[in-house]
Amino acid sequence: MEQVMELSAAVRRAHLKEMAEQPLDVLVIGGGITGAGVALDAAARGYRVGLIERDDFASGTSGASTKLVHGGIRYLPQLDFPLVREALRERGRLLRNAPYLVHPLSFILPLYAHSRHPVGLPVAPPGGIGLGAILNTGLTLYDMLAGKENIGSHRRLSRQEVTARAPCLVPEGLKSGFIYYDARTDDTRLTLAVLRTAAAAGARLANYCQAVRFAHSSGRLVGVYARETLPGASEGESDEHMITARHIVNATGVWAERTERLAGDAARLQIQPSKGTHLVIARERLGLGDEAIVLPETEDGRIIFIVPWQSRALVGTTDHAVREIEDPVATEDEITYLLGHLNRYVRAPLSRDDIITTYSGNRPLLRLTTARTPARLSRTHAVVESADGLLTVSGGKLTTYRRMAQDVLDRIDHREGRAVCHPTLTLALVGAEGWAEARGTIAMRGRALGLDAAVIQHLGGAYGTEALGLLALVAGDARLGRRLVADLPYIGAEVVWAVRAELALTVGDVLARRTHVALEDRTRGASVAAEVAALMADELGWSREERTRQAMAYTAYARQQAGPLASRIPPPTDLTVIQPARPREASYRWRRPSSDEYR
Ligand SMILES: Cc1cc2nc3c(=O)[nH]c(=O)nc-3n(C[C@H](O)[C@H](O)[C@H](O)COP(=O)(O)OP(=O)(O)OC[C@H]3O[C@@H](n4cnc5c(N)ncnc54)[C@H](O)[C@@H]3O)c2cc1C
Repeated sequence: MEQVMELSAAVRRAHLKEMAEQPLDVLVIGGGITGAGVALDAAARGYRVGLIERDDFASGTSGASTKLVHGGIRYLPQLDFPLVREALRERGRLLRNAPYLVHPLSFILPLYAHSRHPVGLPVAPPGGIGLGAILNTGLTLYDMLAGKENIGSHRRLSRQEVTARAPCLVPEGLKSGFIYYDARTDDTRLTLAVLRTAAAAGARLANYCQAVRFAHSSGRLVGVYARETLPGASEGESDEHMITARHIVNATGVWAERTERLAGDAARLQIQPSKGTHLVIARERLGLGDEAIVLPETEDGRIIFIVPWQSRALVGTTDHAVREIEDPVATEDEITYLLGHLNRYVRAPLSRDDIITTYSGNRPLLRLTTARTPARLSRTHAVVESADGLLTVSGGKLTTYRRMAQDVLDRIDHREGRAVCHPTLTLALVGAEGWAEARGTIAMRGRALGLDAAVIQHLGGAYGTEALGLLALVAGDARLGRRLVADLPYIGAEVVWAVRAELALTVGDVLARRTHVALEDRTRGASVAAEVAALMADELGWSREERTRQAMAYTAYARQQAGPLASRIPPPTDLTVIQPARPREASYRWRRPSSDEYR
């Protein structure tokens, strides 16, 4: 009988208890991609590690990216070659270590007669003469920096080829273009895959648990007071836990400076949060195929990507310095900015009504002393150490999370006097081992269960070999094979799986991060909040009142996130709740992760 690692509310409670009762080697604060990476690397090196996240995993910046795994062509004009090289090498590793989650993606970069500063080129040749040659040189460099990790060499495209590949682009003034290669991923599912891999290697994980105070002894940090932030999550036990650890890692992204101050330290890293907003549009509305498009130039010297992502296109992003970092939401100005630039380049202009949803996040940019504008701040990362021993890691990108984590763990190995090793270089993430062989089985079993091709493809792409576990849930209860939203491939089994295997504790955890209904549905999933709450209630033992409260809380959250588009989401009233039976389990047995099994 096959076994699936359980990561449920009960396991979370057990993990918290263990963290509070037995000192850790490493405590990680922050459950975005960076903290997840640190927890995995620490566990893989044999450390006793715990991670706490004040909200849900990937609820910060890591759930709001453009979802690219890339070197970043726009950093070339900034001559940030070390960053590009590092990111391109990490791209290659991710393609190997998580092949179901990270996929090569081709980008069409059009060149227009009016182009002067495409891709943020700082100098404009007179009349744009020679721009093609300059871009060609830049892309050659990009290919070279990727070295043997390169996905494919870039190539010049004729005007006709650009039009054939990107028919949505306005033909007037189009001269030629380029095709080059990078990769795309699913940011929240990547974070979850890293966390599940860490848990399999012995890491203890708790979402909804915030570091609120630090404990010192003889001038050194020795622990953290962590408070549960979800009402009822501690089930009558104390909702504050003292966790002691020899090494404490601050991986709180844009909150890193605040966390340093909370520890009583002067902030060593200067973070300049920079807000980025995306529009989500139906792919067919744009006529977008499987290739991304780079809108080469905005008035403020930026580029905008149109990225095919599931059934939608992501259009973004904006980039401007902000002070307020909690709950970023698209503003009217940002929507107008993005629509304005999009409409300069697409044949059939889009209106606000064509926007399905928007989403925003804050980049943790590191302030360099010479930087004046957010676009010139650094995407590189830094690891700094305060006098009391707090290790803070911030900056970087989704793409470079593994390298960031490695740098942190090298410091810890050094402190411990251990020989440095880099196990995550080749460590396959959960769902990746045996993926090539499992694909056929997943397709076959999915078809036998009556699932359509889009659902089967989605399950493989989101869960890798673990899709077999979801199919087992459908085998146990056919109703779990039903789509949650008619035009999206998410099914009921994913709700049950999220609760049992991915520590989902609220309706928002399922709709916004375990799945992306919140991003791909016009009501942000508010129309299915009650159904999801009912499925979760069955798993988590929620009362009827709690179920209703959860669904209503989600709808309120969806309206807040929708910002200027909130009027499309019905207010949270009159919920019709379906009541599914508890699914029987077919050939799967759930097992608790054991901390020592991989040692
Ligand atoms: C618009 C945009 C587009 C981007 N696109 C890309 C892209 O396409 N490719 C790419 O490689 N990178 C991209 N990035 C960058 C990338 O998303 C970030 O660098 C990365 O997600 C940062 O991850 P993190 O874990 O450091 O921060 P976060 O994901 O923000 O995680 C920090 C976590 O710490 C938690 N926390 C804070 N305080 C506490 C506390 N006291 N106790 C416990 N937990 C706490 C927060 O809740 C949060 O979940 C983009 C960023 C933005 C904003």
